[in-house]
Amino acid sequence: MSSTPIYLDYAASTPTDPQVMQAMLPYFSRRFGNPSSVHAWGQPAEQAVEAARATVAEDLGCLQSEIVFTSGGSESDSLALRGVAHARREARGAAHLLISPVEHDAVRNTALDLAAHDGFELEFLAVDAHGQVQPDQLVERLREDTALVSIIYGNNEIGTVNPIQQLARICRERGVPMHTDALQGTSQLDSNVDNLGADLLSIGAHKFYGPKGVGALYVRSGTPLRPLQLGGSQEGGRRAGTSNVPLIVGLAEAVNLARERRHEDALRFQALRDRLIAGVPERIPGARLTGHPTERLPNHASFVFEGLDGNQLLAALDLAGFACSSGSACKTGDPEPSQVLLALGLSEELALGSLRVSVGRHTTAGEVEAFLYALPQVVSRLRSPALIAQ
Ligand SMILES: *Cc1c(COP(=O)(O)O)cnc(C)c1O
Repeated sequence: MSSTPIYLDYAASTPTDPQVMQAMLPYFSRRFGNPSSVHAWGQPAEQAVEAARATVAEDLGCLQSEIVFTSGGSESDSLALRGVAHARREARGAAHLLISPVEHDAVRNTALDLAAHDGFELEFLAVDAHGQVQPDQLVERLREDTALVSIIYGNNEIGTVNPIQQLARICRERGVPMHTDALQGTSQLDSNVDNLGADLLSIGAHKFYGPKGVGALYVRSGTPLRPLQLGGSQEGGRRAGTSNVPLIVGLAEAVNLARERRHEDALRFQALRDRLIAGVPERIPGARLTGHPTERLPNHASFVFEGLDGNQLLAALDLAGFACSSGSACKTGDPEPSQVLLALGLSEELALGSLRVSVGRHTTAGEVEAFLYALPQVVSRLRSPALIAQ
């Protein structure tokens, strides 16, 4: 077994780029001031936060005032759902929520909670066998009293990219705000909010070579939003609390790098991904791809395996020196089949045999080949009755 494990789980998190770390460092020490202070310590900190806001806004193609910094993807998703749901119900009595059945738990569990405790009516849109929401589905389900629609951009479990442009246009025509969770897409896909047409969009730095614990929510001007966290008037009154200056600076630096490398990264990742998509079913009988074969995240390959337990497979791969995932870092160790895989129409048994392999900036072609070489051995050991009897 190789002594240094091979990391193939970039969809769970990415290493913070050294350039991002360098940019952050002064704001932990010398430049520690509170950006809300008026003095010589406060002002540079405020300037750093506002420069970061300009960077993020430029990449998303929006106004600086439309960016709210948060503590990460989960908070951005929560703020979008709760903030808009409550504001729209207050303003016009809209209490119907529409989400896809393939959302990240940050969206799904927030919506379920709004339904269970805050009196909202939650409806799930159907998806096709690839996990895409069909525009005519949305047309059928949208209502006068729909408060918010939330549809994931690039899926973290199955890689599928949704046709956000078309879906957002439908919402726009009906005057219903649409949120998209773009955590997985930021460094690889077009994230221009005017091209996409979404009214709210979540990003999180640790999915694209920035630090953990920081993200942003884009909120289109005019979209009603009630804050979740109250206190000072930071972030235009939409998110109270002293700005996390170093992490916000890190987020912006990661956005800068993504801007420079997006095209090149996507092309390189795609070649590695396609090698996995071709190579795994070729080598493993009973393996099949989950999610869309082509309209998917450039760095993301995902599979189900007949007659295999996903958690056992992950453990065996870990022993063999490969770090992968069963689909979502948040679900590891959970013996329940994934709701996302069930929504594709897979049986419970198949849904329990899932594997996600995601590549990134540090992945080499040699690592992918090493994985393809090792996988059949790991799988046949797991499938052998002798081992099951032990
Ligand atoms: C990682 C992720 C989240 C959660 O983001 P955190 O910053 O870890 O809270 C939400 N949605 C998707 C699609 C993700 O991949």
